[in-house]
Amino acid sequence: MARFPVPNWIKTYSLRNPPRCFGAPRRGGRKHAGCDLYAPLGSDVVAIDAGKVLEVRPFYWRTFAVVIEHPGIGVVRYGEITPGPGISDGVRVTEGMIIGFIAQLINPRPGGPNPHPMLHFELYAGTGTGPLSTADGPYQRRGDLQNPTTLLASLFEPAKTKANRARLLKNRFTIACLR
Ligand SMILES: [Zn+2]
Repeated sequence: MARFPVPNWIKTYSLRNPPRCFGAPRRGGRKHAGCDLYAPLGSDVVAIDAGKVLEVRPFYWRTFAVVIEHPGIGVVRYGEITPGPGISDGVRVTEGMIIGFIAQLINPRPGGPNPHPMLHFELYAGTGTGPLSTADGPYQRRGDLQNPTTLLASLFEPAKTKANRARLLKNRFTIACLR
């Protein structure tokens, strides 16, 4: 079993539509490498499953990202958050443990609008090595990047989790839109 990473997700902001969805267009032809889950500023972000923290480091616009390896699921980058207490490289987490809090992206352009606070959720198969962010391809991410939409949808619907998870695991390495 596993659980949804944002207990206070404002689900009216669908993760399937731009600008929040995976693959949504970004500046300079880049494509969005994850799903954005809008939530109240400062609300909890929890580990979707047990795992090990691989790294905690600065991310976009004065926020941070926590990267966790979840055996059987992959590597998740929980981005645009403030790390929770005790969350640092090498720490083991349990399912549902608070790993951080929804942060506010600060637009570097003076007077530019700040986006709605969110969790930016990226999923990797875990078969790659090296930095997650790269200069390669439209996503500018490591080659084992996955579309996390099916995983997140299955986690949000616990009653359907078993069937959806089986489907996810079957399809995870055949996502044509990544190439
Ligand atoms: Zn995002």
